[in-house]
Amino acid sequence: ASDENWREVDAYFEASLITEDDALAAARASSAHTTMPSADVTANQGKLLAMLCQLAGATRVLEFGTLAGYSTVWLARAVGPGGHVTTLELEEQNAKVARQNLERAGVADRVDILVGSAAESAQRLIDTGADPYDFVFIDADKPSNPAYLRASLELTRPGAVLVIDNVVRQGAITDPNSPDKRVQGVRAVVADIANNPHLDATTLQTVGAKGWDGFTLIRRTN
Ligand code: SAM
Repeated sequence: ASDENWREVDAYFEASLITEDDALAAARASSAHTTMPSADVTANQGKLLAMLCQLAGATRVLEFGTLAGYSTVWLARAVGPGGHVTTLELEEQNAKVARQNLERAGVADRVDILVGSAAESAQRLIDTGADPYDFVFIDADKPSNPAYLRASLELTRPGAVLVIDNVVRQGAITDPNSPDKRVQGVRAVVADIANNPHLDATTLQTVGAKGWDGFTLIRRTN
């Protein structure tokens, strides 16, 4: 099977099972005005995140990497009007685009975008005693994945669910000597998960409109 087949299958399931309303479509299109055009998750993946949130009964979500807020809209809708999403984004340009998308989607009141280095923003949340989060989506700069997991463990409750995106990287993940810092960031966080007795995890490889990649799903048992 080729990339073209994968795209067609994504399009088929998206057309069959997913309603991407105007706000989501606009959010996706607006990634062209960010610093990383088209780096958002696909509709199938966005809905997967939303459903995982709902299956976990999450009302408080923490996201590393906002971009245009496409995944943020899915997450904010999943937690409902009484829920809250805190999303961490380095670039003011992206945050500005995301704010417009959250407004359009009608969820701006339940989302805080913290602009700046995600490591620093997360540390500030820890220092100010933020209420614990139930669900975390890690999708920012990949070399920082170990730092983001560490921060997440200080910001979540036992039972929380965490998802890390882009963990397969066209298969490059299996090369221990990869010079790619993103691959090394993922390998390091996988080792940290494996060595933590309070984390249970599995990885789902994915193919689709974004090529060959994958999600690591983690449950914090304690
Ligand atoms: N989660 C988004 C979605 O699916 O719609 C996509 C996020 S995109 C893959 C990664 C984002 O992380 C970019 O917006 C980038 O600016 C941001 N980012 C990169 N380094 C960062 C850092 N050190 N702190 C916070 N955000 C960062």
